Amino acid sequence: MNFSKLLKQKLDRIKENNLYRNRCILPDDLIDFSSNDYLALKDSKETKEKLCLNIEKLSLGSGASSLISGYKDVQKQLEEELSKFKETESCLVVGSGYLANTGLIQAITSQEDIVFSDQLNHASIIDGIRLSKAKKVIYRHNDMNDLEDKIKKEKNRGLKFIITDGVFSMEGDVVPFDQLKTIADRYNAVIIVDDAHATGIIGEGKGTVFHFGLKPDENIIQVGTLSKALGSYGAFICGSNILIDYLINRMRTQIFSTALSPVQNFISLSNLKIIQREPFRREKVLKLSEYLYKQAKKERINLNFYGTPILTLIVGDEKKALHIRDKLLENRLFVQAIRPPTVPEGSARLRITISYKHSDNDINLLVKFLKEILENYHG
Ligand SMILES: *Cc1c(COP(=O)(O)O)cnc(C)c1O
Repeated sequence: MNFSKLLKQKLDRIKENNLYRNRCILPDDLIDFSSNDYLALKDSKETKEKLCLNIEKLSLGSGASSLISGYKDVQKQLEEELSKFKETESCLVVGSGYLANTGLIQAITSQEDIVFSDQLNHASIIDGIRLSKAKKVIYRHNDMNDLEDKIKKEKNRGLKFIITDGVFSMEGDVVPFDQLKTIADRYNAVIIVDDAHATGIIGEGKGTVFHFGLKPDENIIQVGTLSKALGSYGAFICGSNILIDYLINRMRTQIFSTALSPVQNFISLSNLKIIQREPFRREKVLKLSEYLYKQAKKERINLNFYGTPILTLIVGDEKKALHIRDKLLENRLFVQAIRPPTVPEGSARLRITISYKHSDNDINLLVKFLKEILENYHG
């Protein structure tokens, strides 16, 4: 069969199942409840002004991978600032969160090892495990009994790793990290915690480990991205000196990919300083998130809320999720419908994210229209 014809057939099937997706450029005057720019730093005036003042000094591209000649002073400064922030010995800045997870997991695992992974971990973690030669064991979402049952049974010669999102990207809930750490210590496992959505938000902005009053140690690897609350692009891995040294030597997504632009790293560094200096940003976001939960509840709309700025309305049916999204859009509100395969079958949902730039009034509008749309929906 002809290649294009085959692809067309596959696309048709995606459409029939209400799973077709396209990219769209949203108008500027929308109230956006879908961005991960929680702290409204992607448009930071302060950082833009600083960038203008420094642009002459900055190269636009890094020119090569870090090991060849792409490692620049601003990346070093960013890594030092992130280490301080995350209270670790060392840090490695890499191209993106996706590259961080795929590269990290492959680099530090080998054939004798076992990776225990939460069922709802991010796709980049799943792909990292696929690239690894280690055995994979999936445990039920945030179910520490299931994790312990499974880890207890495995008697391998190599290492054990437990991998989890800190704040789950499509749920908004938080891993019970204190319990997970106890289990990890009991069975001598290394933890990788992906703080993509936790960074800048929970644990005084420092992430999941700190949210539980714990401190980093050499058996905790903290991954995070610079593209969400930090409003920039890129990612980081924080851990011991030995870990980072090893990754510099063995992590393929870092070795064989060009280093981030100094301009981008400059933006990340400036925004990182802002999140530390302006805790009121995340405080407002968390207050607004709770406000949304409470206002919705008054109207008998049961949003899932876990003390993070990611709230969900799980509707199950893909068509219904799309309908709600489209109706909200008619009213200048944007909430993305999240469908399989991003979330499990039968759990299509509206995923609402709250940002520092929202007001009480924006939230009142969202609740008002959600109520109307839900009342008038007759599948
Ligand atoms: C967004 C996300 C990533 C990917 O980060 P990028 O920098 O966008 O590539 C990784 N892990 C989790 C949990 C995420 O939500």
